[in-house]
Amino acid sequence: MAANASSPSAKQDFPTRMYIDGAWLDADDGKTLAVINPADESTIAEVAYAGGNEAHVAIVAAARAFPAWKASSAYDRARILKKTAELIRERADLIARAMTMEQGKPLLEAKTEALHAAETFEWFAEEAKRAYGRIIPPTNVAKRYYTIKHPVGVVGTITPWNFPAALPSRKIAPALAAGCTVVSRPADQTPLTLILMFECLADAGLPPGVANLVIGPPKPFADALFEHPAVRKISFTGSTAVGKELLRRSADQVKRLSLELGGHAPLIVFPDADVQQVAQAAVIGKFRNNGQVCIAPSRFYVHDEIIKDFTEAAVELTNKLKIGNGLEEGVQVGPMVESRALDKTQALIDDARDKGARIRTGGGRSSRFDKGYWFEPTVLTNVDGTMKLMTDEPFAPVMPILDFDKLDDVIAAANATPYGLAAYVFTNDLTVATRMAEGLEAGIIGINDPIPATPQCPFGGMKESGLGRELGSEGLDAYFETKYVAVGLR
Ligand code: NAD
Repeated sequence: MAANASSPSAKQDFPTRMYIDGAWLDADDGKTLAVINPADESTIAEVAYAGGNEAHVAIVAAARAFPAWKASSAYDRARILKKTAELIRERADLIARAMTMEQGKPLLEAKTEALHAAETFEWFAEEAKRAYGRIIPPTNVAKRYYTIKHPVGVVGTITPWNFPAALPSRKIAPALAAGCTVVSRPADQTPLTLILMFECLADAGLPPGVANLVIGPPKPFADALFEHPAVRKISFTGSTAVGKELLRRSADQVKRLSLELGGHAPLIVFPDADVQQVAQAAVIGKFRNNGQVCIAPSRFYVHDEIIKDFTEAAVELTNKLKIGNGLEEGVQVGPMVESRALDKTQALIDDARDKGARIRTGGGRSSRFDKGYWFEPTVLTNVDGTMKLMTDEPFAPVMPILDFDKLDDVIAAANATPYGLAAYVFTNDLTVATRMAEGLEAGIIGINDPIPATPQCPFGGMKESGLGRELGSEGLDAYFETKYVAVGLR
């Protein structure tokens, strides 16, 4: 299949089927779902769109494949996962093109994400070779104690549209590396990226049933996962509201859950920081993927002494961002994913404006394009805590700037939300950096680093931002039970 990445209007035939028990399938009833390009509202592809029955068949296949996959060695599993990583790298241009067309992000961001997914497969392939148990000294000399790691079982994965390669890879790679089998569902908006990644898994030699891809509406898929006792764990990335629903539903069969949920990250700038450099980092961190990033900074606390200079620099840099179809050369900001994201963003800005916020740039839909879901990157000042954008997760290209004076006050303000996913601090003062890292309630802290996620480090949230961690060694452990064995000697 030839990708023509140079021409935004070039048509492309992407694969459109699900992958169940080693076979590429259409829906039982032939139903399909249109995949829409948010840049121009055109239909890119019609993908197979299944109901609960296909999810059930996939779960049964995964349960059947589990004993043999679990019994294989971590080294054998690693060979397949590393081959998968290699294939993702080889096909990164094609995967990136599909991602840009279905999700909107610029091609360079999409390719970086595909390569991050490849790194994630490689990381877990290697990490699972070191899934050690422990030998524990006994109190009674006639006993021996040790622990072993046991794969959890069949895992269901559910992921959103904002990172359609990175987020499923954080679940599928560690689950498979640990010896679990999986049934995965992409978001309706972005199935093409995951289909292409499953092609890499299949071509890498994964045995039938070990990883299954079901595309369909969320409810019947979730019902199938919750009903079938073979599914021992559900790994979810998405909103806090849906995460809470899954948490409640998991009670009946005590299914394990990993939850990566919403965030509302503070970015805090101290007066010793280099204003220009921080403004650059803030604009990159904020408008990457149009602000549709769970760890995107979304509340900018800037010290009194530098807020004027910072705001001017941030506005200037925001105005220079190149907005357009992500397939075009040099574009930095694409469209938002769908029309309702525009409505939600506009409502947050209108609420802030009504309550006294000043719009320094942007503030509404972009009129530069005839079609598509375009919003102007927006910077706001005169913001206060009564505005919805300070309490609701914005998930939008909106930068509200607030001032602060004292370290303890800014920690209190930063922590005053139910979220606790990421936080960013810009300072060159080691004492300030240390106090902030210890005081902030967030699972991920970037100090002078606006983009901290990387496969070898743990990723996840405190408070209502989630349960558990992905990536790092913690991300592998999430797919193991610790089994304790006591041996009485005769
Ligand atoms: P969402 O919760 O609406 O949907 C996420 C996924 O769950 C989608 O595939 C959706 O189809 C599915 N889903 C929806 N309702 C469901 C239900 N009742 N049962 C089972 N599945 C269901 O979230 P969204 O708006 O698509 O994505 C944005 C959210 O995801 C934001 O809140 C963002 O912060 C969060 N997110 C978190 C992380 C993280 O790592 N913490 C990463 C990316 C996105």
